Amino acid sequence: MAIINIAIDGPAGAGKSTIAKRISKERSIVYVDTGAMYRALGLKAVRSGFDPGDAARVVPMLPDTDVTIEYRDGAQHIILDGEDVNGFIRTEEISQAASVISTIPEVRVKLVELQRALAKNQSIVMDGRDIGTYVLPDAPYKFYITASPEVRARRRYLEYEEKGTLDGRSFEQILEEIRERDYRDSNREFAPLRPAEDAVYIDTSEMDIDTAVNIVLERLKV
Ligand code: C5P
Repeated sequence: MAIINIAIDGPAGAGKSTIAKRISKERSIVYVDTGAMYRALGLKAVRSGFDPGDAARVVPMLPDTDVTIEYRDGAQHIILDGEDVNGFIRTEEISQAASVISTIPEVRVKLVELQRALAKNQSIVMDGRDIGTYVLPDAPYKFYITASPEVRARRRYLEYEEKGTLDGRSFEQILEEIRERDYRDSNREFAPLRPAEDAVYIDTSEMDIDTAVNIVLERLKV
């Protein structure tokens, strides 16, 4: 069977991972969450007591750092130096650390190599910020999923509230965190967040997830 790569990019909270997971299920192809890889490196920097933006400390750490992924019951687990760190990478502190560490070109080069290797031998749906523009520029299917910052912050707020991880933060604080991350992701020099020219642009601000999933599925000839 031919190998099919599907690239899904967009800012935090736009619905990328929900859509990518649904596509993965519907088409029985592997889902690769690239944000988790940046989060794992952010976690390592924080645990080591480094500022994740301090390239002088982060770059020498990279050759001794092993990031791999494994699948258990269909779910992606991120393995950092032999440890499954899935349970540690979803905090706000690590979201910001991932966003900061991902501006360091050497960090990106290391992870992009792993991402390209994963896409080479199997069909995948991969989500991130630069998949369609940089990681897999030849992917036959590219989607850019976005929504207004207010809608994305509202979704995050409700998600944290439901999981009990709000930690007293207000909607305004979450909106500010989202804006900060958007700014950093869109303005870094190396492979910034932006839609690929040939990506299908989907604004989910006023759209439910089923509609967005259907738009993607209709485009796929697989
Ligand atoms: O998608 P997620 O919110 O888990 O990503 C965390 C951070 O990792 C993003 O804010 C972004 O800075 C970085 N990232 C990236 N390139 C990707 C995926 C994530 O720079 N392909």
